[in-house]
Amino acid sequence: MQKLIEGLHRFQSEVFSTQRELFTRLAKGQSPEVMFITCSDSRINPSLITQTRPGEMFSLRNAGNIVPPYSHGTQGEDATIEFALASLKVQHIVVCGHSCCGAMKGLLHPEALEDLPAMKVWLKHAEATQRIMRDNYQHLHGDALLTATAEENVLVQLENLRTHPTVREHLERRAVTLYGWVYKLETGQMFNYDPVSGQFLRLGAPPPRDLVSAEAGRIAG
Ligand code: ZN
Repeated sequence: MQKLIEGLHRFQSEVFSTQRELFTRLAKGQSPEVMFITCSDSRINPSLITQTRPGEMFSLRNAGNIVPPYSHGTQGEDATIEFALASLKVQHIVVCGHSCCGAMKGLLHPEALEDLPAMKVWLKHAEATQRIMRDNYQHLHGDALLTATAEENVLVQLENLRTHPTVREHLERRAVTLYGWVYKLETGQMFNYDPVSGQFLRLGAPPPRDLVSAEAGRIAG
């Protein structure tokens, strides 16, 4: 905890004081354009990997970046999603899974969850992922299987997201766009589901070398 206390001190003296204008504005309200639903895993820092600032992303995090199907307001997720769309008017919702995910391991090896009864119940919201993996991915093993599970789970959770009335209503009005992303811890790369090809394609790749030099030439000229 000492590290956190020292961090708080450093934040207040070095960061907050130099960005006072931003924090004063944010104290009056927030208007994030993006809702980011991801895993609680400590190795994922949404603001760091997307290089966004406070106030730019509204977050929802839990084990396995799971979106329980709408349950008439009985789950915290119901309220968080409703608030993001109806009050904050976010225009984009990203469901972001990741490689090496412990929750995905639990889905593949439910026998390892004997001492985690709450997790076992929670992962029932990803039963469809479990079934898809069992029926279609017998040929994969190890990390490849785990990453494929994270990918399929993101698609399953996007379907669950569509069961929420506010999501459905905003989709009908084209007021929101949904995205399925998977983050690779090993490389820092992000992949986005492309419904046309049915593949996860890399996002945010640096532009090809010749494009960079052409751009530099234009600026220099
Ligand atoms: Zn995870």
